Amino acid sequence: MTEKTSILIVDDRPENLRLLSAMLEQTGYAVRSSTSALRALAVARREPPALILLDMRMPEMDGLAVCRELKADPALQVIPVIFISALAETEDKIKAFQAGGIDYITKPFQEAEVLARVTTHLALHRQKAELEVFNQRLKELESLRDSLTHMIVHDMRGPLSVINGHLGMIRLFESANLSGEVRDSLSAIQAGTTRLTRMVAEMLVVSKLEAGLLNLKLKPRNLVALARQLVADHQVDSDRLAVQINLMASPEPLTVSLDGELIERVLQNLLGNALKFSPGGSAIELQLAVVAGQARVAVRDFGPGIAPEFHQKVFEKFSQLESGKIRQGCGLGLAFCKLAIEAHGGRIGVDSQPGHGSTFWFTLPGVVRVT
Ligand code: ADP
Repeated sequence: MTEKTSILIVDDRPENLRLLSAMLEQTGYAVRSSTSALRALAVARREPPALILLDMRMPEMDGLAVCRELKADPALQVIPVIFISALAETEDKIKAFQAGGIDYITKPFQEAEVLARVTTHLALHRQKAELEVFNQRLKELESLRDSLTHMIVHDMRGPLSVINGHLGMIRLFESANLSGEVRDSLSAIQAGTTRLTRMVAEMLVVSKLEAGLLNLKLKPRNLVALARQLVADHQVDSDRLAVQINLMASPEPLTVSLDGELIERVLQNLLGNALKFSPGGSAIELQLAVVAGQARVAVRDFGPGIAPEFHQKVFEKFSQLESGKIRQGCGLGLAFCKLAIEAHGGRIGVDSQPGHGSTFWFTLPGVVRVT
């Protein structure tokens, strides 16, 4: 036999209690009732009901005060409270909701209305509780996934460095004895392991940043010099892809207190993505400026652009949009950028429209000196 849903009714008038109890018991609810607010609180504490029908005006303690007390008690605050009152004043209704009530019924009661409201709120309450359980379970699964990923990725570092080391040795000492085909294969293997090594490093930094376990090594750095070096590092790639990278910086130097390693990686990610998505013959603008006292860096490309509904999503972990391009990363690059910039107290975003290119930008608050 399934247990009946229990409802507590609190009203100082016994005739109201009798009427409501009969109505709800007939429908199959287990009803407890009390004409005293204080006794009702004790009853609720002893055995919490699924829902409370509460009279607004009572002599010893009014319904609003009872409701406030229920909402202040962690064990009882989730119980839905429906107020009953003879007054249909708007002000009373507002007070009822402010005190934590979920609904309001005016006397004289319409049986169908009372039953409909009670059933609806019980159903809503049950669904909310179920959602909370699912949500909690999801959080647990997410945290399990993260710790598993972290463990696997952490343990991949050793084997990867063995592969990298041996590949380097073969190329160094055996290159002359290898055919062109094998050398090409070795180059492909080395490119693959380099990418994998980068992804592993990125995942580990992301999980450290998420856990707040990465201490920033802040030092004053000239952002313009950092950007110039980065452009030079990407020269071979940009020449190969016939994409021109233009550095537009004002003022110069732009000294900002930052973690050089992290910000360099952020810029590498943004520039790398811009290069990946730029059509041959187009340009990329790397803009550096001071806006409202903060450094603002923007990487603008003339690639396919991103639809507005994905502007937030691209910064989430493991998010990759279908673009028809070969997937090379694992959707962590921009998630890493967001965490790294926010760890500096800055903001990151993208302005983009499909067909009109993308501008990924970020701000850094630690401007040290502008000359
Ligand atoms: P990954 O690390 O796999 O490269 P990112 O986090 O860097 O992933 O990027 C997530 C997704 O955002 C990419 O799969 C791509 O669809 C989109 N994206 C990033 N940069 C650009 C860009 N400049 N132009 C168009 N789409 C981009």
